[in-house]
Amino acid sequence: MMTELVSVDPHAPESARIARCAAVLLRGGLVAFPTETVYGLGALADDEAAAMKIYAAKGRPSHNPLISHVASARAARELAPVWSELADELAEQFWPGPLTLVVPRSQKIPRSVCGGLDAMAIRVPAHPVALALLRAVGRPVAAPSANRSNELSPTTAAHVLRGLDGRIDMVLDGGACRVGLESTVVDLCGDVPVILRPGTITIDQVRAIVPTVRMRAESVAHGQLRASPGMDAKHYAPRARLVLSPRDGLRAQITESSGLIGVLTVGPVDIPSRDGVIVSALSDEASAYSAALYERLHWLDEQGCTLIVCERVPESSEWDAARDRLRRAAS
Ligand code: AMP
Ligand code: MG
Repeated sequence: MMTELVSVDPHAPESARIARCAAVLLRGGLVAFPTETVYGLGALADDEAAAMKIYAAKGRPSHNPLISHVASARAARELAPVWSELADELAEQFWPGPLTLVVPRSQKIPRSVCGGLDAMAIRVPAHPVALALLRAVGRPVAAPSANRSNELSPTTAAHVLRGLDGRIDMVLDGGACRVGLESTVVDLCGDVPVILRPGTITIDQVRAIVPTVRMRAESVAHGQLRASPGMDAKHYAPRARLVLSPRDGLRAQITESSGLIGVLTVGPVDIPSRDGVIVSALSDEASAYSAALYERLHWLDEQGCTLIVCERVPESSEWDAARDRLRRAAS
């Protein structure tokens, strides 16, 4: 299959181009498009045959559920058979934005799209291109990250093509993603709300609205875990081997290794790049760090690094998402 690249203005996408992409989705095709988190690989979520193409293109295990994207909180409420006051409050506070809610499944979303569960995940993304596309389609669009399973998530159209060229119908290029990490996933189906996946919306931000919310690990300890697929340990990984190190261990990691080594730090560091070592400092501020992380890992992969030594990020909650992705990339 030929993958067509369509560029749009990220802030004011041209409606004729959006209509063309919507048409591809509506006839059951696969279209990658930008969201504020990462690029998503879209297909109709309420059309089983269309949504199953996502699994084939990504090589994604069938037990890993898909998130349905809609254009408004109202569309989410209309789709969901049960929409609690809590869901309303979270939607009001964080949508459009990088928060996914897990709620009871609608009959319209096939069970196979939800990893066999009777729960569905839903989100309203905060990106003009994604919203324009969702409005034009007028149906829920399943859109996991537009990468091959177990590889790095894409934050540019070029990253998407690197993994999926020839496997999907279209890529909508709307520039680089602002947030750069996948959404925070909050499960509202159990007794207490549980964060299944940390994102740049922190547990403290969610707690301000839902005081009882717990991290998934804490709820495991409390024996409250519902089946939650798609949390496989190895995920989001670059091709290079990735190891985590405290700042004062970086030098030792470098001298012990051979081949081209990338070093990724939290803020500037006093280690110069040299033959065989590329030192790359990211921000010491969590949201700027998160926005650049995948881009920088993609770039170090492209340079041919065989090892990436990554400085451990701080323990505070605004770093939860980056820490989670790095832990998975290192496993
Ligand atoms: P992604 O791979 O970025 O599309 O994210 C999918 C993630 O959303 C999964 O790894 C789960 O954590 C979560 N998720 C999606 N649908 C469900 C569901 N029905 N029940 C529980 N978690 C879900
Ligand atoms: Mg993914």
